[in-house]
Amino acid sequence: MKQATGQEKSMVIPKICPNIIEGKEYNSGEKIPVIDPANEELISEIIQADAQTVDLAVEAARRVFEGGVWSGASVEERQATLYKIADLLEQNAEELAWLESRNIGIPISQSRTRHVPRAVYNFRFFAEYISQSGNDSYSQLSDYLTIITREPVGVAALIGPWNAPIALTTMKIAAAIAFGNSCVVKPSEVSPLTALRVTELLHDAGLPDGVVNLINGRGAVTGAALAAHPDIDVLSFTGGTATGRAIMSAAGANLTPVTLELGGKSANIIFDDADFDPALDGALLSIFSNNGQQCLAGSRILLQKNIAERFLSAFVERAKNLRIGEPMDERTEIGPLATKEHFERVMNFADIAVREGCKMLCGGGAVKGFDKGYYFHPTAVLAPDNKSRICQEEIFGPFAAFQIFDTVEDAWQIANETRFGLFNYVWTENLQTAMTAHKRLKSGTVCVNTPIVRELRAPFGGFKESGVGREGGQSCENFYTEEKVTIIPTVKTKLHRMGCGTEDQ
Ligand code: NDP
Repeated sequence: MKQATGQEKSMVIPKICPNIIEGKEYNSGEKIPVIDPANEELISEIIQADAQTVDLAVEAARRVFEGGVWSGASVEERQATLYKIADLLEQNAEELAWLESRNIGIPISQSRTRHVPRAVYNFRFFAEYISQSGNDSYSQLSDYLTIITREPVGVAALIGPWNAPIALTTMKIAAAIAFGNSCVVKPSEVSPLTALRVTELLHDAGLPDGVVNLINGRGAVTGAALAAHPDIDVLSFTGGTATGRAIMSAAGANLTPVTLELGGKSANIIFDDADFDPALDGALLSIFSNNGQQCLAGSRILLQKNIAERFLSAFVERAKNLRIGEPMDERTEIGPLATKEHFERVMNFADIAVREGCKMLCGGGAVKGFDKGYYFHPTAVLAPDNKSRICQEEIFGPFAAFQIFDTVEDAWQIANETRFGLFNYVWTENLQTAMTAHKRLKSGTVCVNTPIVRELRAPFGGFKESGVGREGGQSCENFYTEEKVTIIPTVKTKLHRMGCGTEDQ
């Protein structure tokens, strides 16, 4: 792969996003357009990796893994490279933020302050993690010492979503390579730009070619070929629940273990005794940041009846006041949705809401004044009950579905009446209510009096249809390594001598 400095590449969208296998570009294959969601212009094209190209990528990852250049490197060597990667991402942060926002329409202020810093931190976190994690041993069995060690599992397939590509895909890459694995990365066909630039920076940081191989293409072609590949040791996926099912079935045929980070329909419960202003700020952030395209969005907002009227009116006033605009404008709070198909899907939920008898409080359609781009108005509706589709299906846009409840018990019941179980949020000043929430809510994470805070040391994932397995420090170590047990006698053992014709024990 040719070396490219930050300056040379700065602020240029590549015309073509190739596949990169063992450091070489693969440029032949079907071209698929990449569209800027703010103006609907063609900004790049990916080269779709077909099944043969996927084979090449997996073979390269396997070869490099078995060769030991990375899998056999010391912790200090791996740590130094991970730190170097983090430094390079940081030095190119502005370009990465720019690429991400151009590609998927996230406001640049959010790419700068959340997505790219998180990508940098992913590599620093795992650099530190591997230098601190230890091995178990057991000495209780008389005269034996049993040592547990961990080895990299081999080749990891990493399939990422389009809603937060750099933050979520680098979590998988950093974790997989920190423990010595090689990997094949498939970003969403919608959002290939930062994955390509990160792959170049990994190379510049001195990561041996072939440790990370990048393949582009549609989920149904490239993704499906990767998920079904028999020479993959583990597969980590973030995306929708329906896709997760298909991937787990394909991987299951090869007994390939998976982690699946899937969809959500999180309840954000505001009790009467909540501290009003932070609860309001938190509710707006939970549903409107990232243009509402977040798995952990607080998309069902449950209001206790005494606070409901005041909260609804304050929320709607603030929602109407959100600055909708070009993602590259620093003042923008809501940019366009990522694709035309997704925009149409979210629009359709506005019709569904009306048909189901929901009260439209604000928004519910395309933003006027934009001739081009997939701008959807921040929307709030009051639903008649929790059964309506807008309360049960993941809309994945700036679309808040309110419900009003009476008792604390009602809140737990409504919150848990969903097939998802990723996050729940609770706002209360009552310690007992907070502690009950922690017990009663069926989700991988419960946030009390705060919007999302991501603690990478903690396991992240979902109950029910929100996922399988967890990501986070220890969870990733368990997933990306094989445990090995070695048993050694601590004294000279006297073994029964079979075949000696003696009763001697
Ligand atoms: P998709 O499920 O549509 O796609 C995710 C990835 O899977 C993409 O790279 C996609 O490729 C690929 N893919 C699609 N079909 C297949 C297949 N049959 N085999 C293998 N790979 C396939 O999700 P989105 O990208 O639309 O992301 C949004 C979803 O992700 C939401 O449901 C959201 O809740 C969830 N999500 C979950 C998170 C979590 O941590 N729990 C975090 C962020 C998002 P392509 O796009 O090219 O088709």
